[in-house]
Amino acid sequence: MAFEGLAERLQGTMQRIKGKGKVTEADVKEMMREVRFALIEADVNLKVVKEFVKKVSERAVGTDVMKSLTPGQQVIKIVKDELTDLMGGEESPLQFAKKPPTVIMMVGLQGAGKTTTSGKLANVLRKKYNRKPLLVAADIYRPAAIQQLETIGKQLSLPVFSMGTDVSPVEIVRQALEKSKEDLNDVIIIDTAGRLHVDEDLMQELKDIRTIKEPDEVFLVVDSMTGQDAVNVAQQFNETVGITGVVLTKLDGDTRGGAALSIRSVAEKPIKFVGMGEKMDALEPFHPERMASRILGMGDMMSLIEKAQANVDEEKAKEMEEKFRTQTFTFDDFVEQLQQVKKMGPLEDILKMLPGAGKIKGLENAKVDEKQMGRVEAIIYSMTPAEKTNPEIISSSRKKRIATGSGTSIQEVNRLLKQFDEMKKMMKQMSGMTQKGKKKMKMP
Ligand code: GDP
Repeated sequence: MAFEGLAERLQGTMQRIKGKGKVTEADVKEMMREVRFALIEADVNLKVVKEFVKKVSERAVGTDVMKSLTPGQQVIKIVKDELTDLMGGEESPLQFAKKPPTVIMMVGLQGAGKTTTSGKLANVLRKKYNRKPLLVAADIYRPAAIQQLETIGKQLSLPVFSMGTDVSPVEIVRQALEKSKEDLNDVIIIDTAGRLHVDEDLMQELKDIRTIKEPDEVFLVVDSMTGQDAVNVAQQFNETVGITGVVLTKLDGDTRGGAALSIRSVAEKPIKFVGMGEKMDALEPFHPERMASRILGMGDMMSLIEKAQANVDEEKAKEMEEKFRTQTFTFDDFVEQLQQVKKMGPLEDILKMLPGAGKIKGLENAKVDEKQMGRVEAIIYSMTPAEKTNPEIISSSRKKRIATGSGTSIQEVNRLLKQFDEMKKMMKQMSGMTQKGKKKMKMP
């Protein structure tokens, strides 16, 4: 996970200042020294660090903070606000053409993730924006790149326009535009050629493509693992070709995160999306405020809720709620719930979105818990249908059989039965509470 080191350091620093009833200038100075250090370690651009520290310091020593009742928390809020600002403030929405097709040009160095991101973006456009995208293979120097895009297209069942390697990129894009009109594709995503370094020929080619129809978006795809280099590349592309936004890839890796924190300030272009994995659904819109929240350990409830909404079947959720309420929840439902949670991705990533989760000891072992989930499922699968509905009937000899059948131990079976029982009791209490609440409301 990106930002791990930075988050840890900043959270430690914030923790120290949080409860202070009185914050002196010396406290702020000390805190900012630590913040500066944390940012530099995270590979944030030096100029950016200096500006950030200056801004926060100025605001933090203001009289309204010092004199407030909760100065420590005020200071933390300032850090969060400035961190959000640093990453662009508001979320930057996708731009569409007034008259279709919308043209999105993907540019960037080789290996940054251009082709993969083109596919992911097409997937987002179809799923979230209800568009009909056409992918265009305009990298004529690497036949493998064209093939890769075609494979992605097949995988997503989305059309790919290609003309091999003998036609100029400008001509390919011209014909792709014609084709999009015929086939009623309202967005075209152009996957352009990449090089190992920024070079003049390539820049010229990209500028030429731009002349055919002014793109609505030119996205520079950069690899966040390259740190400061990503920032330099962004600056160069912006100055020569001109870009409208940045897609930071590989933020799922253990990048220190410096690029994410520097690009906006240095290149003055917003980060629009972040790549969070190799799969086709691993592209997320970039929310500066949520990211700042996550870095400071305040959690990211919004993303968590959205993730849940995208993965949970609403009908099923209602059904479950009813079962909770009427206490007819069985072990079969339990397994189904486990599977829903699993769909949301690695458990450790989900937990990290919870406020204060960084401080929970043992969270780094959350991966092991997924194995645990597998064992729990195995136990449940070894029960008979009657046992799943009425676990009270499970006798000691049956417990033994279930343990053997699932490759677990009697202790584990007992633990699960106890947990399930406690869960049911809790549901009973909760539904009792809501009933009381309803009665209360009805009373004059
Ligand atoms: P291109 O040369 O810029 O077109 O780069 P590719 O799209 O071929 O990507 C290069 C490699 O990076 C591939 O192995 C991709 O699977 C991988 N990749 C791209 N985006 C991400 C991401 O967000 N996370 C991870 N982990 N890998 C990525």
